[in-house]
Formats: sequence, C-alpha cells, structure tokens
Amino acid sequence: MRTRCPHCNDLCTTRKTEQISSLYREVTFVCNNSECGHVFVACVSPVFRQ
Ligand SMILES: [Zn+2]
Repeated sequence: MRTRCPHCNDLCTTRKTEQISSLYREVTFVCNNSECGHVFVACVSPVFRQ
C-alpha cells in the first residue's frame, strides 16, 4: 500500500501494520524524504457497498 506524506507529498514506506480487529487496521508510514522524515499512522477499514 502506497501513500503520500501529508507534509511534503513525497511517497512513504510502510513501517508497521497492526491488525486491531477484523474491520480495523492501523498502518504506520514513514516519509521517504529524509529531510522531512515524517512518521504517521493511517487506519484502514473496509467499506461495504451493495
Ligand atoms: Zn514528508
């Protein structure tokens, strides 16, 4: 899973994934930009559509 840094918009690398429950997962990202180095957590939840 790839995402962009909310600060510098550079690509981020997944550092850690933690499955909290079957419907909720937390992913820790690290910014690839060494001058930024921002670390942040995003949550992933399935969205059900019919
Ligand atoms: Zn950044």
